Amino acid sequence: MVRVKCSYPECTTGSLADRKYNKAHGIKNKTLFSVPKNSHRRQQWQNALGRLNALNEKEVVCELHFNTSDIDRFYKTILPDGSKVLMEKGRITLSNTAVPISKLTSNADEPSKSLAQNYSQTNTIHDIEAIEAITNELNTHALQFEIANTAIDNN
Ligand SMILES: [Zn+2]
Repeated sequence: MVRVKCSYPECTTGSLADRKYNKAHGIKNKTLFSVPKNSHRRQQWQNALGRLNALNEKEVVCELHFNTSDIDRFYKTILPDGSKVLMEKGRITLSNTAVPISKLTSNADEPSKSLAQNYSQTNTIHDIEAIEAITNELNTHALQFEIANTAIDNN
């Protein structure tokens, strides 16, 4: 199997131990993002990681090291009645301009650590409730759509 461990210093995301832990606890594996192909942006990532040697294109950085505003977890849809729904993406995406939170900054006041702690405490339950609500709403709309189509067929 390809090496897919997070390249962020001291991060264990993607390691065998991390995957085993997630599996045993029913936790979804965190998403790993490939380093940018663009050399200027890859240099920015390298700086953020505090790395002296160049990142190679096969390296990855996990979602814990980005500002939440750079990560897109949902498809946003506006229903015919004007209400907005969010559907969780099968695979979350990263904005084109995202750069990991600097390792130097995180050494000073450890925001990446608190981000990671925050993640593990609040993520799952919150998301599942949101998904259930959205799924229920979509099912209702799908049913209404079917009924409407049936009515047309009967005419
Ligand atoms: Zn990581």
